[in-house]
Amino acid sequence: MVTKSEKKHYDKLAQIGCVLCKHLGYGETPAHIHHIRRLGMKRSNADVIPLCPEHHVGKTGVHGLGRKAFEATYGLTEDELLNTYCL
Ligand SMILES: [Zn+2]
Ligand SMILES: [Zn+2]
Repeated sequence: MVTKSEKKHYDKLAQIGCVLCKHLGYGETPAHIHHIRRLGMKRSNADVIPLCPEHHVGKTGVHGLGRKAFEATYGLTEDELLNTYCL
């Protein structure tokens, strides 16, 4: 279930475009919404980042690589992407 305010927030994030493409200097890329998983915490509105299909579920993406390898490959964490580009 997505509430109205979540939908609004997601739309805003989708407009930012892929935060990893931004970080890598590729410019703006249309993005999916990726939920950051936090152990022991409920999903919240603030824990989503926009990622393009490749950086989301592709071979070089967070789901393709796994979170640890993803963070090692790009030298930054999901939280840093969130704090840098999404707040
Ligand atoms: Zn991307
Ligand atoms: Zn995801």
